[in-house]
Parts: sequence; C-alpha cells; structure tokens
Amino acid sequence: MNKKVAFYTLGCKLNYSETSTLGRLLNNAGFETVEFTQTPDVFVINTCSVTENADKKCKKIVKEALKISPNAHVTIVGCYAQLKPQEIAEIPGVDLVLGAAEKFQLVDHLTDLTKKEKTEVFNQPVSEANQFISSYSFGDRTRTFLKVQDGCDYSCTFCTIPMARGASRSDTIESAVKQAYEIAASGVKEIVLTGVNLGDFGIRDGIRHDKFVDLVKALDEVEGIDRIRISSIEPNLLTDEIIEFVAASKRFVPHFHIPLQSGSNKILGLMRRRYRRELYVDRVAKIKELMPDCCIGVDVIVGFPGETREDFVDTYNFLNDLDVSYLHVFTYSERENTMAAEMSGVVPGSTRADRSKMLHILSEKKRRAFYESQLNKSDEVLFEGDNKDGFMHGFTRNYVKVKAKFDPVLVNELKTVKLTGISPDGDVEITESEEILVH
Ligand code: SF4
Repeated sequence: MNKKVAFYTLGCKLNYSETSTLGRLLNNAGFETVEFTQTPDVFVINTCSVTENADKKCKKIVKEALKISPNAHVTIVGCYAQLKPQEIAEIPGVDLVLGAAEKFQLVDHLTDLTKKEKTEVFNQPVSEANQFISSYSFGDRTRTFLKVQDGCDYSCTFCTIPMARGASRSDTIESAVKQAYEIAASGVKEIVLTGVNLGDFGIRDGIRHDKFVDLVKALDEVEGIDRIRISSIEPNLLTDEIIEFVAASKRFVPHFHIPLQSGSNKILGLMRRRYRRELYVDRVAKIKELMPDCCIGVDVIVGFPGETREDFVDTYNFLNDLDVSYLHVFTYSERENTMAAEMSGVVPGSTRADRSKMLHILSEKKRRAFYESQLNKSDEVLFEGDNKDGFMHGFTRNYVKVKAKFDPVLVNELKTVKLTGISPDGDVEITESEEILVH
C-alpha cells in the first residue's frame, strides 16, 4: 500500500507553489497525498521565517500532527528550517530538517520512515542553494502560482529572505513557457507569476541571461491561458517597457502589486530600498496614464526603527494622495541578524499597532474608492469554486472582487458582467446579461 503524506504550508505564494512541487515529487515516488487529518505516514511542514512566532506555530503543528498519527515521520522544510535548523531540531517529534539547498531532495531522505532518536538535520550554507527548481501550484482549478525566480541579491535592512533563500536565480524562458503550456492543458485559466524578486528575473549561475520583460513577452504568446497576473514587482524594476507591454497585452491583466514600504525618503534610505518616493509617484502615473482602470496594490511597513510621528504622517499623506487601490500593511518586527534590528529609534509596540490600524483604515477607503470608480463598467470575471452561504466569488481582470449567487456551472468560467453596486460586506455586485445575480 502506498505511504500517505500530508503537507502543511506557512507563508507566501512561493511556499505554496513549492509545496505543490514537493507533493508531485513524492507522488511520483509512490506516496499518496492526503489531508492533514487522514492519518498520514509522513508530515511535511513548509515553514516561513516571516510568520510571527514561527517557532511556536511550528511546534503546534508538529504536536497536532503527532496527535493524528503518533508514529508518523515529521519533516520540516522552508525558510525557518534554513535559518534556525537547531531550534527546530529541538522540537519533540521532528525527524528531519531540510534546508534551502536540500528541500527538493526530500524523496531521497524519505526512504526510511522509522522515527529517529535524534533529529537529522541537512542544512548547508544558503550560498549552496544556487539551483533554480521550478514549481507551480495546483489544487485550485482557477489559478496557479508559477514560480519563475527565487532568492534575492538586494539587501533591505529588515529582510531575512536573502539569508533564507539565497542569491537571485531564475528559470529559463523556455522552461517557464513549457510549464505555462502544461498549466493551460490542465484547464487552469489564470497564472500568477511569482518570485522573491520577480522583476530581477533572468539570472542563472550569477550571470544575467534574460530580462523580465522578455519573459512577459514570451508568456503572452501562450495559447490556452486566459490571464497572467504579475504577483509583485519592485518599483525600480517596473520599467516603461513592461508597463507599455502589459497595457497592450490581452493576457497580462491590468493589476500591479508594487512594494513601497515607506512614503518617507528618510526611512527608505534606512531600509536600503533602491528607489525614492518620487520614482514611485512616477511609476503610478505611468501606469494610470496607459491603464486608467489598473488596480495598484502597495506593500507598506509601519514602525520601522527611526520612524517618527512626522515620518509616519509623511507616509500616510503620501499614500492618501497616491492613486492606488489597496494597501498590504505590515507591522515591523525585529528579525535576528538583520541591520534594522540593531538600529536606534525603536518604535514602541503600541505605536506600531496604532499606525497599522490607521493604514488599514486608509486601505479600506482606497479599495472602496477604487471599486466605486469601477461601477457601471463591464469587465470579465473569473469565478472561483467557493460557496459561502450560497454565494461565490470571482475577480475581474483588474482585481475587483465580485460576488454572485453560487452556481456550479460558473466555477472556473470567465463571464463578462456589469458591476452594479457594493454589497454591505464590501464585495461588488454584478448583473450578467440583464439577469440580476446578486440583490
Ligand atoms: S527586495 Fe528587499 S525585501 Fe524583497 S526579498 Fe529582496 S531583500 Fe527582501
């Protein structure tokens, strides 16, 4: 009988796509993927170092796992496994810890599933994680995350990702295109292109071979994929050429997610970000000039060391004036071995929380204003398979979340609808060919 494996994933889209790849590798080796609760023989927990209390979460998941299958083999992979292997090795019940360079050799490590006295740790320095292993996620029929780039050569002072994932490296354009065709053949309609620093796509073995825009152009030719979304791109890497190409493309949708992190140039300097706010304003203006209905999302960090009240107000006003559609707000928290953790001007926790709250409110205001600006327009929606209290959801090309009465026929279908109003829960109501789907 096949051995059963269950996965648990913490963290970002990249982790989700990598979990899917690990799943496929194990399935090819004869393992059957089951739900966490279906008494697996093996648990694989893919961790994140950015998650608050990563250690506590990891411990809790291991404990839950062993309650379900007391004799199961437990493997921990992911960013936290790269950064703190010894800390993980001390968690009772963990059999195996694999670092960034070792995680895709999981199958080789799972030939013997007996519980070990002592946790085995395979964790080379992150500089050894220099191979690009392509991944894409499956599971959700409508949308797939295709990883085309990994690692980062930047040195933002708050970030542990370069330590956890290593240097910037990428897939080839040919391989990415091949995978896009595979995804299309499986019936998935939308690809979300992902990477740690996606705009830096094109480096292999430390040498730049390609530019991100060339990948974009090649993927735009892939028949069978209806939509391609760029998950996130640094403002300094979002060139006019990319914006112009997306504006004219049928497959790349008008939606950008662009990390800003702070609207204060002083703080951007302390963060060692590679742009100043003027560049950000310029990028937003260029996008809106070519795509007035484009959705623009912004990552922003509050409470970075040295962020005074004036600096925060600066950020707030900057964002308030900017023509963007929503914010992803992160509350700064110290990470070991980062420069920021040693900086003076530490912002008290309660102030960080207050600032986060203010930006969350601003984000809601921005989102609502964006949704309102889209009312009475028509756009194509890709419906998802959820059924919550009789309603399903979907997203327009420009990332407006719409709501409709659940209809199984609509799942994974593209439909052109008219956006008619905003429901009390904030989603957008629609009509489709005169028929009212949501009242
Ligand atoms: S660009 Fe900066 S924040 Fe993003 S992964 Fe690289 S170092 Fe981290």
